[in-house]
Amino acid sequence: MIILKIVPQDPYALPDEVTYRRVVNHIVKAFPRCEIAEGLSDLPQFVDCGDDLEGVVCPLCGADIDSDDWSILMDASYDEEGFSSLKITTPCCHKPSTLNALEYQAPCAFSCFEVDVAEPKKIPPTLLKDLEAIAGFPFQTIVAEYKD
Ligand SMILES: [Zn+2]
Repeated sequence: MIILKIVPQDPYALPDEVTYRRVVNHIVKAFPRCEIAEGLSDLPQFVDCGDDLEGVVCPLCGADIDSDDWSILMDASYDEEGFSSLKITTPCCHKPSTLNALEYQAPCAFSCFEVDVAEPKKIPPTLLKDLEAIAGFPFQTIVAEYKD
């Protein structure tokens, strides 16, 4: 199953209630035959790419980050309600970075606000521009595939 996840580019972007409803309504209208799920939280959540996460790469030195090291970094920053901080020290080159800045293969994200569209047939070409006009901040899409 393919889930199109529509999230702000900024992990901390959080719209007010009215803007939130307008964004969700726009997405519901853009995908009339699809099942839509939505979520809002005070702290950023990890927006995964499904079964296609093949690796995580350091943006500073290009090293592959071992999946055990990545799990440790994720666990260390995660509170019960989300990520209390995204700041990390990279395990490879020991420099300051963020979980969000790591290069996920395939792309993943962190966000406080997520709208999921199940099995979208066609993505309207102006969708991201329209959402930015409504919310006042830019959006991105994460395509997640779940094999079972
Ligand atoms: Zn590095």
